[in-house]
Amino acid sequence: MGYGRYGNPVWTAFEDVVSELEGGRSLVFASGMAAVSAVTSLVDAGGVVVVPHIAYSGVHALLRQEQAAGRITVRRVDPFDDRAYAQAVDGADLVWLESPSNPLVDVLDLSRMVRSARDAGARTVVDATFATPLRLRPLDPSIAADVSLHSATKLMSGHSDVLLGVVSVTGDGLHERLDARRRYSGGVPGPMEAWLALRGLRTLHVRLDRAEATATELTARLRAHAHVSGVRYPGFGTMLALELPDAERADAVVAALRLWVATTSLGGTESTVERRRRWPEESPQVPEGLLRLSVGLEDVEDLWSDLLQALPH
Ligand SMILES: *Cc1c(COP(=O)(O)O)cnc(C)c1O
Repeated sequence: MGYGRYGNPVWTAFEDVVSELEGGRSLVFASGMAAVSAVTSLVDAGGVVVVPHIAYSGVHALLRQEQAAGRITVRRVDPFDDRAYAQAVDGADLVWLESPSNPLVDVLDLSRMVRSARDAGARTVVDATFATPLRLRPLDPSIAADVSLHSATKLMSGHSDVLLGVVSVTGDGLHERLDARRRYSGGVPGPMEAWLALRGLRTLHVRLDRAEATATELTARLRAHAHVSGVRYPGFGTMLALELPDAERADAVVAALRLWVATTSLGGTESTVERRRRWPEESPQVPEGLLRLSVGLEDVEDLWSDLLQALPH
């Protein structure tokens, strides 16, 4: 390794675990967005990137910047419109997929979408942050994406105390290019961050099982609630969303919650809530009254009674 920017034993320890989980070769980055930038740098100047309307807002912001600089062309597409998707991937270099999506928690038909992108000659990346490698393995032959990506800041680290990203690939060529990008773009993770994430990974299965059971139960109760509509839950994982009629009423719920923490991060031990449209860079396709909920490790009854007192009744 020779020099700290090229690699260090703590990165390797973290990467070895993720490689095993993903069935590929992994590279750790200083944040989820550092991982995103490294992957978009695989697109040559003049290339075309396809991205769904709903994806992490930072990804949209980065692609807009790259497009404004004249480096790439971005095609935004409704991932549930098969015809529009097929047209968009035709002639594309990179297809960005995120499942479940942030913040609408939509689950994409990845096998089919990756296949049609590949048939069109495009590389595919799946941001599986909301699923974790325990619920979704994009490199598995049943999906066969080129790149799997996670913001390890979220569930993988799991304690809201570290920023980290990770990318996994199957091909040697891609691994080399991403490794070189990490080395020379220079924004590398510290060993302490990698160590914290590695420690978080050791409890991922336990945290995920517990928070997922709570999320499942809360979803069932919210769906039966008279004043809540549009409860979205992918059927697995710890993220859900619900819709209030407008921004004002959604903000009132957030303000009234006491146990749920009003903050933007997610995937930690504390349950958190956010109205995503409070951010100007959030996609206009996300409803103004949508609340995104990240379920943590608190007792389900405590979380439910807090929701009950905060929701309209
Ligand atoms: C948070 C997040 C990112 C960005 O990760 P950072 O670690 O904050 O840079 C990317 N994708 C998804 C789905 C996210 O939730």
